[in-house]
Amino acid sequence: MKVLIIGGSIAGLSAANSLRNRNIDFVIFERGRKRAPKNGGGIAVHNDTIDYLKTFPVDLERLNEILYPMPVQLDNNKNGGIIRMGDIPFHSAHWAEVYNLLADSIPLEKFCFGKELVNVTQTGDGVEAEFKDGTKIKGSVLIGADGILSTVRKLVFSDDIVRYAGYFAWRGILPKEELSEELPKDTFILEMSGSCHAVIYHLGNRINWLVYENVDNGKEVYTTQEQVLGKISRDATEQELLDFKQMVSKEFRPLLAELFTKTPLPFINHIYDRDPANHYRKERVLLIGDAAHPVTPHFIRGSNMAIQDGYFVGKLFDSDHKKWFSDFEKQRVQECNDNVRIAKQLGRLKQGLILSGKDWTLQTNAKEFAEIAGDGIVPKFIEE
Ligand SMILES: Cc1cc2nc3c(=O)[nH]c(=O)nc-3n(C[C@H](O)[C@H](O)[C@H](O)COP(=O)(O)OP(=O)(O)OC[C@H]3O[C@@H](n4cnc5c(N)ncnc54)[C@H](O)[C@@H]3O)c2cc1C
Repeated sequence: MKVLIIGGSIAGLSAANSLRNRNIDFVIFERGRKRAPKNGGGIAVHNDTIDYLKTFPVDLERLNEILYPMPVQLDNNKNGGIIRMGDIPFHSAHWAEVYNLLADSIPLEKFCFGKELVNVTQTGDGVEAEFKDGTKIKGSVLIGADGILSTVRKLVFSDDIVRYAGYFAWRGILPKEELSEELPKDTFILEMSGSCHAVIYHLGNRINWLVYENVDNGKEVYTTQEQVLGKISRDATEQELLDFKQMVSKEFRPLLAELFTKTPLPFINHIYDRDPANHYRKERVLLIGDAAHPVTPHFIRGSNMAIQDGYFVGKLFDSDHKKWFSDFEKQRVQECNDNVRIAKQLGRLKQGLILSGKDWTLQTNAKEFAEIAGDGIVPKFIEE
């Protein structure tokens, strides 16, 4: 059995680690020319995900060092008043540190960089991947771990429609000593201002933050992958930065406005997902991670699902690929698709957008929000 993995990021690397545990032969094809640079932002890692990571052949001491405890969630109103708090099963980590941990445990000869997949052909006894440089590689099965704008999904599943959520995220990281006052440590802070919201948490001595801003009154847009290319993550223009500084000074309390405006070069992530799919497999091809179930960030599940998918790729391995992929779907489809739906709902609620015909303004509806949000925290309400 030879497994071709397309995409060498969180999902692809997790699958590779898990296949290593089972001594299954694999090769990772990544269109990037080298290992990912040390960029990106923070991610919240679920305690279950940490248990899965611990089964991989990674450096466990280093795993402990890159995870920071984050057992509490605080939901604040616009003035910083606590409206809800609860226990959450998460740690925080920097995306690049998780990436490096996963990548460093894979032998270099298992990576092929600069390989952009352009075609997939399935034959009775195998699969052939064709790359932009003209090379063709044969394998027994192919795993598409090539992210939200998955070429594998487009080619094999004839699905290239993504959903723009109607808003984007500003993201940044500031060393904590640069802020004039301390923010609560070990805490996931959700700051809701009615028509936008912010997320703030520590990464050791750094403070990671996101501010979500509606576009065109939060209008959702279904579009093709081609129309999105290059527009997911980008640097802000000077004018956008100026407008952002004005906006956060109006929408958030002074300490948070200071955090957001002091951060050098925050970047922009446009928020997309896809409607849930019923199948992640087709004959000898399996989708995992964002290629299978891209999700908005509000249920903090994207990277977690990518790692968990990877874990189950190895755990459920069977030399009969039909059984292997069918067992994978049984294990993953329902849970992942539920996460996509919950995250979509949470995003619209937190952005004060209309959901099922009702207009939510969170600042005054915290209890109602908690009742329908389904975000998994056990709330203890603080009266305003
Ligand atoms: C604002 C924001 C905040 C987030 N916060 C969190 C969080 O707190 N917690 C969390 O769990 N998740 C979070 N996520 C989600 C998380 O970033 C993604 O879900 C996760 O990184 C998906 O990993 P992946 O490996 O499936 O895809 P990707 O990371 O997109 O990797 C796909 C890989 O495939 C490669 N590739 C693409 N096309 C080809 C091709 N044709 N040929 C070869 N290679 C190809 C790409 O170069 C890339 O390396 C957040 C996302 C956003 C936008």
